Amino acid sequence: MTEIRPARRGPPFFELLGNVCLDFVNTLDNRPSGEPKELLKNYYDLARFGEDAGILTPEQLDFFYERVHLMPDEAGEAMRRAINLREALYAIFSALMNKQPAPQLAMDRLNANLHDAALHSRLVQTKSVQNKMPQVEGRLEWRFDELTSSFGAMLWPIARAAADLLASSDVALVRACSSPTCQWLFLDTSKNHHRRWCSMKQCGNRAKVRRFYAKKKMA
Ligand SMILES: [Zn+2]
Repeated sequence: MTEIRPARRGPPFFELLGNVCLDFVNTLDNRPSGEPKELLKNYYDLARFGEDAGILTPEQLDFFYERVHLMPDEAGEAMRRAINLREALYAIFSALMNKQPAPQLAMDRLNANLHDAALHSRLVQTKSVQNKMPQVEGRLEWRFDELTSSFGAMLWPIARAAADLLASSDVALVRACSSPTCQWLFLDTSKNHHRRWCSMKQCGNRAKVRRFYAKKKMA
């Protein structure tokens, strides 16, 4: 990888809809156009996605930014795995939306990522601090190993989030945006589950404007 390290973080770069694994799938933009736009061009972009999506802290992002050029092979390998995971997720969600069986190769890839995530996660008991005294709350939760332990670590929570969604009844609420040029995946959490656009601000408005002008023309 010969990319020049970008300047320190700017404002958020990725447009996120709120579900981390679907947002990850949407990092290949303009899929239906036949000329998709790659938003993850290099490891810096991947790390940036990690920060924008709340997976990496600013300090963890700095850690990776400073090491990409020192460990280009590791960063390149993490990139390759990230793209493979993303395309596997796209294939699986697309198949399910079309009531088709999930492709086996894609399932194998997701499962390989899930194994990796499982190897790097453990159950820990949560503690809260009250009056400066740590108190055990009794509840247990999954925690991942330190995310700076591997260039590919940010894929653990993405794979886990995908598995949680795929194995839940919410998977029926995964939709592709109705805009023929967009088709971003989103989770339809609207009350009636009739949401058609990835975001009203982007695609919903564009469709509204198109309908407005079409009506005007006919009038
Ligand atoms: Zn859209």
